[in-house]
Amino acid sequence: MEKRRLVILGGGESGIGAAILGAQKGFELFLSDFGKIKDEYQEILNTHGFQFEELQHTESKILNADLVIKSPGIPDTAPIIKKLMELGTPIISEIEFAGRYTKAKTICITGSNGKTTTTLLTYELLKRAGLNVGLAGNIGKSFALQVAEEQFDYYVLELSSYQLDGMFEFRADIAILLNITPDHLDRYEYKMQNYVDSKMRITQNQTSNDWFVYCADDPLIRAELEKRTIKSQMIPFSNTEILEQGGWLEQETLKINVNNNTFDMTIYDLALQGKHNLYNSMAAGISGSILNLRKESIRECLSDFQGVEHRLERFLRVHNIEFINDSKATNINSVWYALESMQSPVVWIVGGVDKGNDYSELMDLVKNKVKAIVCLGQDNQKIFTAFEGLGKEMVDAKSMEEAVRSAYFLAEKGDAVLLSPACASFDLFKNYEDRGQQFKEAVRNL
Ligand code: ADP
Repeated sequence: MEKRRLVILGGGESGIGAAILGAQKGFELFLSDFGKIKDEYQEILNTHGFQFEELQHTESKILNADLVIKSPGIPDTAPIIKKLMELGTPIISEIEFAGRYTKAKTICITGSNGKTTTTLLTYELLKRAGLNVGLAGNIGKSFALQVAEEQFDYYVLELSSYQLDGMFEFRADIAILLNITPDHLDRYEYKMQNYVDSKMRITQNQTSNDWFVYCADDPLIRAELEKRTIKSQMIPFSNTEILEQGGWLEQETLKINVNNNTFDMTIYDLALQGKHNLYNSMAAGISGSILNLRKESIRECLSDFQGVEHRLERFLRVHNIEFINDSKATNINSVWYALESMQSPVVWIVGGVDKGNDYSELMDLVKNKVKAIVCLGQDNQKIFTAFEGLGKEMVDAKSMEEAVRSAYFLAEKGDAVLLSPACASFDLFKNYEDRGQQFKEAVRNL
């Protein structure tokens, strides 16, 4: 029998993993990337003797595919994808592909914000409880690579909407939906419903043996659930309502009840502070309860989890001014939660490449919590216009060093300097990690 031809578009972490798994499963392989492929990945491709190309898409080698795996970074509007769609070639994500070759149980986490934090927290929870668990998705090593090379019984997967868009038969044993707020609308024809539908794919194919864990305080999720029938067992969590089943807050105690398996702990013992993190801790804790992990082990993990770099990372105190790195906050919603969690007056460093922000949503919090604003970006006009009416001190900065120095100058003992940019980073930085690193470097140099 002729080998089935698998074409992989995109030579990043997920593409390379897919190639290794694809070869193992007997496909004839071709990998193509319209951009450059990193040297380390080229080396892996060469070592395995895989056919590949970079800086081009050769149609004669792509359009004859039986199956295409597309990197989440490539939009459906790319010409090569349009052509494949016209031909009716199945186009899937690496997660869908890898999911076909593993029987491991999956805990899948999506949402507009909080995915990485909740994924790492949940992974840590399972690992510490002694389960044989892998971590994959938008994070770390590719799922396909691990399916090819490891023997995990569980996977905690961080799933972006782009990955979900390429998933069809995949079924999550536990699906977690943290929140839905506008993001990436450029990939969804600027239609919010398209983005919501994408997020809801996390529940597709689920049966009554599976679980759907979701934030009941999120108006968009609530509205969507009224329209749909979910087959899995629905477990809500909330900060505002006392629930019978799920996760909720009662006075200062986080409570969880999943089919009479109960858990509680005071919120002061939670390692991740702030309202948004309470949701993240609830979602992780609920997964732990569903899997019947020991309560002591859940409690221990939720109370000493180290947090994740660049997410409200309390970096350093200089002369009793606390410097907090929230470089990953690239939209309004995550800044809202960052400001909301601040206990002391804030000098706020904000700016970068604006993805269509509506700053009015932050107005009350900025009025009440922020004493001065440092605008860090190539073009800060929109931020000045949005906030100049508040009468706060505002300064312009064109580099991280300048921003940190200005913030330090504007702050007094007991204040916090918060980098929470609400914007993408690529005007002045390589990516949000680079922006966060430069922030920390500048603080170290004060
Ligand atoms: P993601 O992987 O979805 O981008 P991260 O865990 O990397 O999420 O966090 C991104 C930003 O969102 C950070 O600034 C963080 O403080 C904020 N954040 C974390 N959890 C939540 C949540 N549940 N709701 C809103 N914002 C959150």
